[in-house]
Amino acid sequence: MTDTVPVMLDLRDFTAPMKTAGDYIALWAEIEPTLFTVDPQEERVVHLGCGDRGTIGVRFLSPGHNPRAFRLDTRFAVHGVLEKPQVLYACDTCQTSGATVYGPFTCKPCADGGKPGRICDDHVTILDGGFHARCPAHTPRCQECGGRASFWCEGRKCARKQAWCDRHRRRHPGDAAMSYCPPCYADRFPGCAVRNCQKIGHLRCDHVHERNKEDCGRRICAHHAERWQIYGFGPRSRRGLVLCPPHSADLRSLSRHSLVFQIIAGTAARRRRGSRGQATGLPHLSSVRHIFINVREEALDLSVLSNLFDDVRRSLASHGRDAELAKLIDGAADRRRQDIRRWEEQQKTGRELFGRLVQVLRNDGKKELAAKVRFSSFQAASKKLFVHVPPELLGRFIGTKGAGVKRLGEQLGVSVEWEKR
Ligand SMILES: [Zn+2]
Ligand SMILES: [Zn+2]
Ligand SMILES: [Zn+2]
Ligand SMILES: [Zn+2]
Ligand SMILES: [Zn+2]
Ligand SMILES: [Zn+2]
Ligand SMILES: [Zn+2]
Repeated sequence: MTDTVPVMLDLRDFTAPMKTAGDYIALWAEIEPTLFTVDPQEERVVHLGCGDRGTIGVRFLSPGHNPRAFRLDTRFAVHGVLEKPQVLYACDTCQTSGATVYGPFTCKPCADGGKPGRICDDHVTILDGGFHARCPAHTPRCQECGGRASFWCEGRKCARKQAWCDRHRRRHPGDAAMSYCPPCYADRFPGCAVRNCQKIGHLRCDHVHERNKEDCGRRICAHHAERWQIYGFGPRSRRGLVLCPPHSADLRSLSRHSLVFQIIAGTAARRRRGSRGQATGLPHLSSVRHIFINVREEALDLSVLSNLFDDVRRSLASHGRDAELAKLIDGAADRRRQDIRRWEEQQKTGRELFGRLVQVLRNDGKKELAAKVRFSSFQAASKKLFVHVPPELLGRFIGTKGAGVKRLGEQLGVSVEWEKR
């Protein structure tokens, strides 16, 4: 009866995976016969070659106590196994070339396909604009040219799910860390419609085509956009409509009807787009009167202007955009009547003031002026009396350094203004 022979196995240079107890039993069955060729009292580690799986080291733990020769009934006892520290999450790509390297990343397409999908630092690809790691086999390709992708597009359509290469990368103008594909960039940062302008068209033209009620929508940079101030100039007034250069130039050639149509349709478009904050209503008739003075150089009665709104209303169909405009016009009908009533009261006051103005001119001996000035309008809120003065008499009317109008204003207790056109 022989004692067992204690041994230690060194598997650090053995590359075949050892996963179960069965793997170890099979391995031992394979190497045990070769131990009979070894000197039992060898103190150094004995290396047994295993072909492309590397080598196994065997060390006798007490060579001095071993028999002179192993016999068929010699029993061995494995007291320990030296192994490489086990890598739980090994890079798939490295493993195909026999190396075991820790892979801290996971490739989603691999994992979705049932593979571990682990990726090491050397084999991982993480594109700009996203944190999805990809293995070499699943590194995304550019949507456009099939080249190696370098970023995920931040655009609305791509939503960081489409990858693009550097050749097809457009950077955010204010934030170089954000990148877009060409279509998404054009969508997010449309160019100004003005030829050769390199700026971004942040604004859209509000002009509305009368025939189909579609807006022009041309994209314009802040520099090339015209603001048509139909809501007044005050610090609390809403910002005016945006016009592209061609539609801004067209404004002066619009008929009365078309001009009122633009005011209504532009305001409706504003409401539709819901520009933040207060609801956008049509301008008061008194403002419309000013718009007409500025654009068409004609000062119209408010009742004439109100009739123009009714004309536009009658030209509209009962569906779609037309119905929307009709509703806007109808919704302000009461206010237009009120505007006219208040306006007529003011003009009554204005005509009385004007009568006194003529009297002051006569008393001052300015007979020709007194005969030729005409009443224009009176604004009660700003206490402004507007008059028409023939151009050849304007200098005399204003007086040296404005002394003439100043005196008239003091006499009447209002500010006297002359219509510029
Ligand atoms: Zn790797
Ligand atoms: Zn993969
Ligand atoms: Zn590309
Ligand atoms: Zn995109
Ligand atoms: Zn048009
Ligand atoms: Zn521009
Ligand atoms: Zn336009």
